[in-house]
Amino acid sequence: MEAKSIVKGVTTERKIDYDIIENMYMDGFIYAAFGEYFRRSHGYKMFKVPANAGFTCPNWDSRLSNQGCIYCPSFARQFSHESMRRVMDSSLRKQINEQIEYHKSTGAGEKFLVYLAFGTNTYKKINELRAIYDLLLEHPDTVGLSIGTRPDCLPEEVLDMLEEYVESGYEIWVELGQQSMHYHTCEQTNRQHGISELLDVIGKVHDRGVLVNLFTILGLPYETPSEMIETARIISAVGADSLKIYPLLVMENTRLAGYYRQGRYRPLSRTEYISMVADFLEHLSPKVLIQRISKDAGVEKKEAPEWNTHRFLVGPEIEKALSIRGTRQGSRHKIGLTAEELNPIK
Ligand code: SF4
Repeated sequence: MEAKSIVKGVTTERKIDYDIIENMYMDGFIYAAFGEYFRRSHGYKMFKVPANAGFTCPNWDSRLSNQGCIYCPSFARQFSHESMRRVMDSSLRKQINEQIEYHKSTGAGEKFLVYLAFGTNTYKKINELRAIYDLLLEHPDTVGLSIGTRPDCLPEEVLDMLEEYVESGYEIWVELGQQSMHYHTCEQTNRQHGISELLDVIGKVHDRGVLVNLFTILGLPYETPSEMIETARIISAVGADSLKIYPLLVMENTRLAGYYRQGRYRPLSRTEYISMVADFLEHLSPKVLIQRISKDAGVEKKEAPEWNTHRFLVGPEIEKALSIRGTRQGSRHKIGLTAEELNPIK
C-alpha cells in the first residue's frame, strides 16, 4: 500500500497495509497491536530477538556529551573496544542462534527479526556496520533487522546500505529513541537532539523502504498531559509506522535517580499512566502500529515507580479504560480528514 509522508512532501512507498489494520478494528481490536498485524500480514508468528553487538553512544563517548540521557542506565553505556571484539564474532552469532532455536522450540516464533537493542546501533564505520548486520542476518529463519538508534545517527551512507538490505528482500526497521516531541524535554533530559533531526530523517528512511518505529516515554520531567497528547499528534503527522510507549522508569545510578531522591522528580502513578496512555492512544493515528504499551524488559534495577510496569498487567487495564470510555486508538485523531468527515452536515 502506498502512503504519503508529509515530511518534505516526499512520496514514500510504505509497506504497512492499512486494510489489515482496519480489519483488526472491525474484529474488535482496541488498538493496532503489532504482533497481530504481523501474523495477518506475513502469515507467520514473528518474534523479535534482542542482540547486544557492543555499540556505544555519542551521548556517552563525549562526541555529543559524556553524561548520557538522564534516565539512561549503565547497562546501555556499553563496552570497551576489547570487549566489543568478543561480542562481535562468535558470541554475537551464539546470542542469535541460541535465542532462535529456543523460541522455535517453544512455538513463540517461526521467523525472527533481530533487534539491535543496546546503545546506538548505527554508530560505527560503514564497513563495521555491514559486518555486524551480515552476521546477524546469517540464520536462515531471520527475516530482517530492527535497529535501535538516534534520529541524528543515520547518515546517507548508512541509509543507502539499509536500502541494499531491503532490496535483497530483508525487512528493515529503524527504532528511533525520540521519546518526546518537545524541545524543552529533549534539553531537560540531555538527549542532545531535538525534533528537527527526526523531521529531517524520517522521509529519507521511508524513501529507502525502511520502516520506522518511534519510542515515546510518558511522564518525562516538566512535561504536561497536553504536551504528551501533542506528542501523539505529531507522531501521527510525521508518519511513524509503529510506536513503543513506556512510563519513565527511574533506574539506579542515573541522574534521574538523583533528582528523584532529592524530590525534584515524581514518576506517574499507575492510575495516571493508564489514563495517560488511554488519552494518548485516542489522539494517535489509528494507523500507527503499537509494539509496546508499557515496560517490562530491563526493570531489575528500577528505583521507581513502585508499581509493576509489566505490560501483561498494565495492558489489560489500558484496554479496560478505553472500553469504559467507549473509545479506541484514533477516536480523537483529527489529522488528514476527508472533506466529507470535515463537513458532515450537508
Ligand atoms: S541515546 Fe540511548 S543509549 Fe544514548 S544515552 Fe540516550 S538512552 Fe542512552
